[in-house]
Amino acid sequence: MKIMANRMDRGFFRYQKEFEDRALEVLRSGWYVLGNQVKSFEEEFAAYTGGGYCVGLASGLDALWIAFRVLGIGPGDEVIVQGNTYIASVMGITMNGATPIFVEPDEYFNIDTAKIEEKITERTKAILVVHLYGQASKMDAVTELARKYGLRLVEDCAQSHGACFDGQMTGTFGDVGCFSFYPSKNIGAFGDGGAVVVKDEELAREFRIFRNYGSEKRYYNKEVGANSRLDELQAGLLRVRLAHVEECEQERVQIAERYKRELHNPKLILPEVREGATAVWHQYVVRCQEREALISYLNEREIGTIIHYPIPPHLSEAYAYLGYKKGAFPITEQYADEVLSLPMYNGMTDEEQTYVIEALNSF
Ligand SMILES: *Cc1c(COP(=O)(O)O)cnc(C)c1O
Repeated sequence: MKIMANRMDRGFFRYQKEFEDRALEVLRSGWYVLGNQVKSFEEEFAAYTGGGYCVGLASGLDALWIAFRVLGIGPGDEVIVQGNTYIASVMGITMNGATPIFVEPDEYFNIDTAKIEEKITERTKAILVVHLYGQASKMDAVTELARKYGLRLVEDCAQSHGACFDGQMTGTFGDVGCFSFYPSKNIGAFGDGGAVVVKDEELAREFRIFRNYGSEKRYYNKEVGANSRLDELQAGLLRVRLAHVEECEQERVQIAERYKRELHNPKLILPEVREGATAVWHQYVVRCQEREALISYLNEREIGTIIHYPIPPHLSEAYAYLGYKKGAFPITEQYADEVLSLPMYNGMTDEEQTYVIEALNSF
């Protein structure tokens, strides 16, 4: 049996008719950018996250960098972020000329909130919380710190659509919640897409202006903006995804529960969920000291896995200019050497799950 780490086709075929009908509806409408599909998606997604305003953008990275831009964070400013995140989180900061200040992760792969305070200086302007792999971070501690030091709070929810802390959905705790709808995300488009969620109507308006060349009224540009619009086709297809989001989330939770229940190889450290938090299992990430051997063992059995992520941002070539050496963030680096994402996708059959579990237990 051949099993890929992710199967995006399964999620399409399950709702094939709805996707195809919607795609045709948009194609036949003659209106392809900033129309009724985007407007409806924004309303539906805002309601899904628990209120406020949603502004559709072209990608998750755009959501991040435009968030810091709109919040006025730039050169000379510092933004606190966890060291083991996907590099796009960091790029959202540095594209504005601001400096990322890395903090080690906790045992749930999210920012270790006990280590934030020691990194706060007079240059600190914001905390960027990443709900990595789909589990909500410890938001009571983070919001308290942001309030205490008067910092902006931005959430990277590219992997956490639907995950909650104390019953509140990620993306709604801070000033801006940033989402990606890249095809492999839990709510995935059929191309690139992103959005921000904000509570403040005026802030939402600023995002709407910025995403459209800095203009509210056509050809009257009040600032230098970007072209970062979620297009009608993607918005229309995302509305179909959103209509089925709960059943898809439940399916992932069930696969994760099965992994938890049936995996019992002492060489694997399985992921835990923090009390008060929920996880939507964008990835099911185990740790293994013999990772390379495990990957080959699984490959021989045609089971695909992915490493999220082999090189932490502070050691990447892109951020060599920050001057960090190996050893600067030992926990972040240890995770990079040990983490492995098991197959996890909507439409993963019972037989496929059994096959993966048996292979892992026999390693
Ligand atoms: C995917 C991802 C992004 C970037 O989203 P894109 O839509 O691919 O630009 C940012 N942060 C995290 C944590 C991600 O997983």
